Formats: sequence, structure tokens, C-alpha cells
Amino acid sequence: MQPEPASSRRSASILADDEPPAHELIEGSGRRPIIFVCDHASNRVPRSLDGLGLADHHLADHIAWDIGAAGVARRLARWFDADAVLAGYSRLVVDLNRSLHDAGAFAEISDGVLVPGNIGLGMEARGARARDVYHPYHRTIRQRIDAGTNAEQTPVFIAIHSFTPRANGVERPCHVGVLWDRDPRLPLPLMRALREDPDIVVADNEPYSGRHPADFTIDHHAEPLGLAHAGIEIRQDLVRDDVGQEQWAARLADALRPVLEQEAVYTRLTAAARVPSDRQRPIEYSRARWPAGETDE
Ligand SMILES: [Zn+2]
Repeated sequence: MQPEPASSRRSASILADDEPPAHELIEGSGRRPIIFVCDHASNRVPRSLDGLGLADHHLADHIAWDIGAAGVARRLARWFDADAVLAGYSRLVVDLNRSLHDAGAFAEISDGVLVPGNIGLGMEARGARARDVYHPYHRTIRQRIDAGTNAEQTPVFIAIHSFTPRANGVERPCHVGVLWDRDPRLPLPLMRALREDPDIVVADNEPYSGRHPADFTIDHHAEPLGLAHAGIEIRQDLVRDDVGQEQWAARLADALRPVLEQEAVYTRLTAAARVPSDRQRPIEYSRARWPAGETDE
């Protein structure tokens, strides 16, 4: 056998054989296809990247992952007998909720913390992280969408995130935010149901916008296919431990259940159901922003 020329040899994976895979897949067997995704489920860094040069307390903090989000997503997947795709590695390795062309995909600084392992990162290092972590995650999501799609139905797509209660010195008073853009089928009933509890502050496209291009995973997978979808952001101090994760998963499950029982959400968005894009307008920081024609009852 001829030796393989060095130029065609693939460089070694950044993940060692004994490390977890790029992502975790939970396969549902429910009657209806529902896919939960958790882009920032993990704060793990492959050993080969040596903690990205960060102190352990930074890797434990919100810059590395969405604290509590994985526990909520796993519970929701279990209760709805749905799929869940959860990131196996930190957003600081590569941010799965960004285009690879976005500077934020390999953040050099996050909430004021320099990430030494990402400074001046070369194309080869970026390519290796994309190959071993980023692409496998997005490929699996696409496969689960394909598996849940047939002539009669399309999957519902729900992204679970969590946000830090304080960013850049500013307190964030909302408990939960629903991110969306032009497909109102999931977000509006979800926000309405959550707002039935007067003690919960429910934000509309806060603390981040669901409007293009801010929410890559949804923009990339759900919107082009017309899948009913929502991004859900929960404040991290509410889901730090198992008790909080259980409570919030239950709260979200109660709010989601009625809408997930409707046939209409398992179809592609039609032009008639699409609401006008409001991306030309500034984001309004209010508790109740509804598109034209909707009322906040
Ligand atoms: Zn997130």
C-alpha cells in the first residue's frame, strides 16, 4: 500500500477519543415531531485547547455557556417525547448560534473577559473547530428535521437559552424572553400563556432579538423551511439548580402544551400567516409588543 501523502492526511480531531461527542442527541418517539435545540448547553472545552487559557471561574460563568438551559431542554424533550440536540462544548470553542463568518463565532472577548485561546485564531484552527464541533451539531439538527418531515407534517423547532441577570452593569428585570421574527404561531400563544402568571415578566424579543441575523440556529434551520419555531431565553439565576430547572421546564411545558396540540403548527408557514417584519423599527423594551392585528388581552 502506498503511504498517504501528507497533504491529503486529515489533521487529528480536536476531540480525544475519550471525550464526549460534539453534541448529545435525544431522539423522541412522539406522535408529533418536536425538536428542542440547546446551542449553549455545555461549558466543556476539549483538552487539546487547554481551557482556552481561561481561569476555571470564567469557564464556569455565563460567558462559556447558558447556565441551566440543558436541564430545562432535557426535561422538555422527555415530557413531550421530543428530540433534543444539545451542544457538547462551550460557545467559546465555537458559537453554534453564529454564522462561521461572524466575528462572534470565535469570541476573542466576552462580557469584558479576554479569551486568550481565541486571540488571532488562524484559519486552520477555526476549520478544525468547525469540522469537529460546529458542523456535526448542525448536520444532526438537519437530519432530525428531515426525519420529522413528510407530506403531512413538519417539525416544530424550539431553541432553549438562558441569559445572565446582569450584563454590562445593567440589571435585566425580565424572567423569560421569547425570540421570534415573522412566524407568530408559537411565540404569541406562548407569551400569552406565560403572562397569565402576573408575577412573571415576559419579554418580547428581549434581552436579545430573534430578528435576523441575531439568532443563527433558528434563521438557518427553521425559518428557511417555514417551521413553526420560537427561541426561549430564561434568566440564569432562576435555573441554576435542579429545582429551578424543574420549575421552569414545567412552566414552559404548561404554556407550550396547548399550542403543541394544534395541527396547524406542524405545517410550513404560509404567506398569509406571516406577520410583517418589524426589523426596520428599533427594538421596543416593553412587556407587550404585539404585531398589528393582535391584542394583548
Ligand atoms: Zn444561548
